[in-house]
Amino acid sequence: MIGFIGLGNMGLPMAGRLAAAGRELVVYDTRGEVINRASKFGAHAASSPQQVADRAEIVLASLPSLQASSAVVEAVAEAVAGGANTKLFIDLSTVGSAVAQRNHTTLQARGVAALDAPVSGGVGGASQGSLAIMVSGPRAAFDAAEALLDELGRPVFVSEKPGAAQTMKLVNNLMAATTLAATAEVMVMGVKAGLDPQVMIDVLNAGSGGTHASRDKFPKAVLPRTFDYGFATGLMVKDVRLYLDEAGALGLPSQLADAVAALWESTLRDQGPESDFTSIVKVLESAAGVTVGASEEVVEQ
Ligand code: NAD
Repeated sequence: MIGFIGLGNMGLPMAGRLAAAGRELVVYDTRGEVINRASKFGAHAASSPQQVADRAEIVLASLPSLQASSAVVEAVAEAVAGGANTKLFIDLSTVGSAVAQRNHTTLQARGVAALDAPVSGGVGGASQGSLAIMVSGPRAAFDAAEALLDELGRPVFVSEKPGAAQTMKLVNNLMAATTLAATAEVMVMGVKAGLDPQVMIDVLNAGSGGTHASRDKFPKAVLPRTFDYGFATGLMVKDVRLYLDEAGALGLPSQLADAVAALWESTLRDQGPESDFTSIVKVLESAAGVTVGASEEVVEQ
């Protein structure tokens, strides 16, 4: 039996893939409605992380905050101290290396192997089983988990050092945060100057300015004005802050990351933590008085 805790934008489709691959699952989330959705693909419902740990040797988690990840790890460790079954805990959340290291220590003290395994590839990657999965922790635990992780995407072993995969993930997400912010800024500039946004995206994608933001995020969620890419602004800000913490702890300058972070912090204040992260463009649009929509929707405000 495989346990899965945290059935949000990422967790639910990942659990769905494991169920489709024939895995028997026991799942928990603080929101009952998503447990019900998982029950529809055959997962057993649990009413606490402890109940998951009682029933599952391997527990995966996909949680939205450092606090939730630590709380779930504490609950699993306590359950194991009380005789629960869990032997391996795999945290798919982005929590930064300090929390990952603390989680490793807490679990190790109870004889539970821990892998931090943050993912990249978004909701699409979670649904299609094409996530990049960065993994750190004991090599033997990775070898034991590799076939399971293969069902979710492409696992890459980063290091035996707990938390190293988190650092890798923060590097990745700072790049993603930067290219989305930069694409939003130049798109607003171009539209203000009278360029057609669809033409701009086509040209960027045919030229050297193309990024994942112009190839995927803008066509899917900004030009059609749906803002439903599936990653919350609050989570993006969490990751940018974690990057700055880790770069700061290394004593490194971060002029570019600081500028990018300032725009994300404005987006958080303006659009709220639950807004989709593609809403970053709205902050720039309102300052410029334009809207970056598909051709017929370009409006001068
Ligand atoms: P989400 O907010 O959609 O889902 C989180 C889920 O965890 C929710 O269903 C919530 O109810 C549940 N939860 C919260 N606290 C809990 C607790 N204590 N016990 C059990 N369940 C709890 O978040 P998401 O977008 O699915 O992201 C999950 C993690 O994956 C985050 O760390 C995020 O940074 C990372 N991530 C997200 C994406 C993305 O595109 N959405 C991509 C890569 C990585």
